[in-house]
Amino acid sequence: MIVLEADRVGKLFETKRGLFGSDRGTVRAVDGVSFQIAAGKTVGVVGESGCGKTTTAKLVLGLEEPSSGTMKFEGKDLKTLDRAGRRYYRKSVQAVFQDPYASLNPRMRISGIISEPLTTNEDLSASAVRARVLELLDLVGLPARSADLFPHEFSGGQRQRIAIARALAVSPKLIVLDEPVSALDVSIRAQILNLLIDLQDRLAVSYLFIAHDLAAVAHMSHTIIVMYLGKIVESGNAQALAMTPMHPYTAALFSAALPNHPDDKREEIVLAGEVPSPLRPPSGCHFHPRCPRATARCGVEAPTLRPIGGRMIACHLFESDTS
Ligand code: SF4
Repeated sequence: MIVLEADRVGKLFETKRGLFGSDRGTVRAVDGVSFQIAAGKTVGVVGESGCGKTTTAKLVLGLEEPSSGTMKFEGKDLKTLDRAGRRYYRKSVQAVFQDPYASLNPRMRISGIISEPLTTNEDLSASAVRARVLELLDLVGLPARSADLFPHEFSGGQRQRIAIARALAVSPKLIVLDEPVSALDVSIRAQILNLLIDLQDRLAVSYLFIAHDLAAVAHMSHTIIVMYLGKIVESGNAQALAMTPMHPYTAALFSAALPNHPDDKREEIVLAGEVPSPLRPPSGCHFHPRCPRATARCGVEAPTLRPIGGRMIACHLFESDTS
């Protein structure tokens, strides 16, 4: 079953005039993006800063409205939801953010933090709320006595477990994981990622996983979407895409991140420059000024995203399934 579907979704932002009038214009933060998230599966989104990952997350969370295209949740267009439908959607799509220090109210006890979404969305007795809090703490591997403590009494990894328990409180269908381990010590990142995988196995919850850590995305995801300047440039099965990236941008990203096996001969591809300003994206293929395989055609003609070898790729090097 498809939980969430984005169909050619775009998000435009009008920027205000800068000090010298130079920054005025329209930014296509997300440009015609389509993807699906199935029940119990993880879609990973990768790309450098400014490629549209965060705006995509906000669109999925309903924090931004699409400028174009359609977002559907369990088959229903979000634009057509009535009040009860919007309430159900807000309850069904939760988030865990990067910084477990900033995302938990320091003045509230853990029981209050975890139960807040419950008391807002459901009419439960105090004893039922307490029982659910203890159940959630157990689910994320924290002892029952944690309920009566405050956030400062926990480590970063424990706080992220609390944030995950809070996100799970109302039994969501989809959780947006926005850089959920990047603020944590390297030694505990794997514990949190494995907890998330374990919870998915047990609860069949779906994830939209956004991270700079490509090894983590490859480990967690069933499908990976690679974004560059608001567009999807490659998407497909996570393992296949990470191990044999085809689009030059994907190849550059993953060459720097994967794998660490000593027998692997993969060379690191160093990308020149930074992501261009989305106010003035390059002509043709937006990636052409940095692409090590660009040709003259790439500067004038934008490639379209098309199916190649079981995945989707937007690059002139891959014209059809037979090329
Ligand atoms: Fe590189 Fe050209 Fe492919 Fe763009 S279309 S990724 S510039 S080879």
